[in-house]
Amino acid sequence: NDPLATVDPEIAAVLDQELSRQRHTLEMIASENFVSRAILEAQGSVLTNKYAEGYPGKRYYGGCEFVDIAENLAIERAKSLFGAEFANVQPHSGAQASAAVLHALANPGDTILGLELAHGGHLTHGMKLNFSGKVYNATSYGVDPETMLVDMDVVRAKAHEVKPAVIIAGWSAYSRHLDFAAFRAIADEVGAKLWVDMAHFAGLVAAGLHPSPLPHAHVVSSTVHKTLAGPRSGIILSNDESLFKKLNSAVFPGQQGGPLMHVIAAKAVAFKLAAMPEFVERQQRTIRGAQILAERLTQSDATGAGINVLTGGTDVHLALVDLRESPLNGLEAENVLHEVGITVNRNGVPFDPRPPMVTSGVRIGTPALATRGFADAEFGEVADIIAHALMPNPDIAALRGRVEALTTAFPLYPGL
Ligand code: PLP
Repeated sequence: NDPLATVDPEIAAVLDQELSRQRHTLEMIASENFVSRAILEAQGSVLTNKYAEGYPGKRYYGGCEFVDIAENLAIERAKSLFGAEFANVQPHSGAQASAAVLHALANPGDTILGLELAHGGHLTHGMKLNFSGKVYNATSYGVDPETMLVDMDVVRAKAHEVKPAVIIAGWSAYSRHLDFAAFRAIADEVGAKLWVDMAHFAGLVAAGLHPSPLPHAHVVSSTVHKTLAGPRSGIILSNDESLFKKLNSAVFPGQQGGPLMHVIAAKAVAFKLAAMPEFVERQQRTIRGAQILAERLTQSDATGAGINVLTGGTDVHLALVDLRESPLNGLEAENVLHEVGITVNRNGVPFDPRPPMVTSGVRIGTPALATRGFADAEFGEVADIIAHALMPNPDIAALRGRVEALTTAFPLYPGL
């Protein structure tokens, strides 16, 4: 029962170093966030010891009376947060939620239709090396080369051409709302099921700041750890009664064994927090922050360096920087931002002329900084730091100093 620092000083050091990195840099990876201390506590708990194959009240193991309470709370809170009649809170991750959804909605070899990976789609929506591209006949729709938006006429034409069993709406890198009603109409026309993967924007939906896919989709899946700010994991929701049983059996025993009860307890906490007014206010700051960033990066001194923002702005928690006209590529931009203390990821833009390891884009997200307390003024400062870092010959030391002033003013996990 010795503490970690005694048992394994090497790993204890990693934890310390990572906490320090998170404290002293600005985290702007769009898929990341900072969980609350209550969530850390639930996740780092004795619930990790418990096997609980099955579902509450119908387990294959004894001693589940307390973990059942946690899972029921997570289910009820998820249903109420998103207005869903059904919730499965067991997927270990977003990718496993995706696998379970396809398992429930399609048979191996069936055609699926999702957003092209290079245009902002996700690996689990049909990428050829992923299970989704190996088990299913994966087809895709892309964005319009002029507007960079999903064009529903193109989706409709493609759906009529390939007659998919499942149409997937959802993204990992896209900065506008999708038209879920139009997706559903197309799915109905071709006899497909509509699966919305709201992994990125679930927190915005929970806060009522993004249209909800629940009224339209047959199934909605999500991660819990991006805008939703919960533990690293997935969930599946639905309002289509004919699918509830299938979805549960696709998760267990279809895709997983024992659920991670410590993570499920932490999900319950996250859904409770997401139903509070502070969460809505935080998501408002998140979206405003991304908009401030997009506005700043499209201003003249930045565009002089060939810097644009895809679609000219954003409705969500991220901005997609388009460097196709800049001498700077995505890899160099990621590196220079790293040098000033801002963590982002390079990201291919649609029709990217540069190779995937280099790219012509950067995806910059605001959820973690909004959680840290940033509002308009701080996001304006961050946007200005980023704009200067991406210009030719940036003064790295000065920009790093400005980042440090922000990290000092907004301490992360004080007392941890
Ligand atoms: N779906 C979408 C749209 C995502 O963006 C992601 C993560 O990036 C996932 C699923 C997968 O989530 P995880 O990394 O938890 O497997």
